[in-house]
Amino acid sequence: MILLGIETSCDETAAAIVSEHGIQSNLVHSQLEEHRPFGGVVPEIAARSHIEYLDSLIKRALNEAELNFSNLDGIAATAGPGLIGGLIVGLTMAKSIALVHDLPLIAVNHLEAHALTPRITSQIDFPYLLLLISGGHCQFLIVDGVGHYRRLGTTIDDAPGEAFDKVARMVGLDYPGGPAIERAASQGRANRYALPRPLQGRAGCDFSFSGLKTAVSRIIAKGKVLEKDVPDLCASFQEAVADILTDRLRHAAQAFVEAYGKGVLVVAGGVAANGILRERLKATANEIGFSFAAPPLSLCTDNAAMVAWAGIERLRLNMVDDLTAAPRARWPLDPNAAPAIGAGVKA
Ligand code: AMP
Ligand code: MG
Repeated sequence: MILLGIETSCDETAAAIVSEHGIQSNLVHSQLEEHRPFGGVVPEIAARSHIEYLDSLIKRALNEAELNFSNLDGIAATAGPGLIGGLIVGLTMAKSIALVHDLPLIAVNHLEAHALTPRITSQIDFPYLLLLISGGHCQFLIVDGVGHYRRLGTTIDDAPGEAFDKVARMVGLDYPGGPAIERAASQGRANRYALPRPLQGRAGCDFSFSGLKTAVSRIIAKGKVLEKDVPDLCASFQEAVADILTDRLRHAAQAFVEAYGKGVLVVAGGVAANGILRERLKATANEIGFSFAAPPLSLCTDNAAMVAWAGIERLRLNMVDDLTAAPRARWPLDPNAAPAIGAGVKA
């Protein structure tokens, strides 16, 4: 089975060819430079840029894999959640190819693609405990199987990637903030600034990051953070995020144990690229009897290989879509999940 995957849900235009034996080609065109002047992703610019680059990227992905459309068994494209303009571009392209070449279409949930990514490179069986940490999401899920997810907790305000990006901006580091903060933090002292750990010790597995972000902005507002202090502030912030994630992990793992016994913790999403967070999560997981798996760094941030792979997993189970599949800006993995505590609930 060999599929073309297309990813256009945010600011990465991506195309990949993946078979059941692994990744044949995996191309990403990042729009970073186009959005950098604005300090974040501008939806209209993103959609236009996807239109500009997607067809040539698909052609290159096929060339690199030394294949053409007639060799494919299906087309998978991200249909949500994400920025609607970009989703329309990618899904419409996938539908056109599916129609012309008479191939099955798989409309992929971007979060499911992240959730299944570790299975591309490792033998990880269902069920497993998943921590999805990215620019727009933060949730613990039990992955029972393809299409079967139970959300244990989510963020009541910001996602951690968002917090990394905003804090980076506050201290004058480049967008995207995650890698910039991680680099700066490697030179800093994590115990220099006292920052809050919202919801620490509270029951359940929900998260909160906005108070942490505000605490950083208060320290900066006092005017005492000079350039030489930035590494310490970044390290202190990163440490607080690690503490929050590991505290919540203990609760989520307990819920998993009650259902299935000890298992595997999988982390995925862009923030899972952070080395310190990976280390801390792995240490806590091991301490409570869980093994740990994380995708290789190149598969943590948005890419099309994970979309093609989700397509393979679905196609194997005959879970295909037709040409009426609609792009969805919001598309929770677990539609039955109870709302998070607090007011600002995110799907
Ligand atoms: P995604 O939403 O999955 O595309 O991931 C993008 C988010 O991951 C952005 O908010 C980045 O700042 C964040 N990110 C990427 N690399 C790192 C890192 N090394 N540490 C923390 N956050 C990161
Ligand atoms: Mg993502």
